[in-house]
Amino acid sequence: MLSNDCVFCKIIRGEIPSAKVYEDEKMLVFKDIEPKAKVHLLAVPKDHFKLLSEMNEDRAATLSYMLSVIPKVAAENGCVNGYRLVINQGDAAGQTVFHLHIHILGGENLPW
Ligand code: AMP
Ligand code: ZN
Repeated sequence: MLSNDCVFCKIIRGEIPSAKVYEDEKMLVFKDIEPKAKVHLLAVPKDHFKLLSEMNEDRAATLSYMLSVIPKVAAENGCVNGYRLVINQGDAAGQTVFHLHIHILGGENLPW
């Protein structure tokens, strides 16, 4: 289920542009608009939910599937020597988009 007022749902529906690097029926991966590393991608499920605490069986299956696809997408996009995955959860983590997403950071030796 997608949301009408969510920027990532709009990207999934093609209503606003993004630099897509991978897409299938369950997920989309695109470039972060304000990259915090040489490679900064966002992997999003095609299901609108904000937090891991909203998990159910279908969402768990989708996230598991996403984790199986991410290594290939990361390698194809310049993460040659490793990368970091980040999932911000809620205000204290600075989550700004309330559609669960996995940051893929790499393309360099991460300084932090
Ligand atoms: P978070 O702080 O974990 O919620 O991360 C949200 C991320 O989405 C930030 O790194 C933003 O730069 C990124 N972002 C927001 N809007 C867009 C957009 N239209 N296209 C690509 N990335 C975006
Ligand atoms: Zn959404």
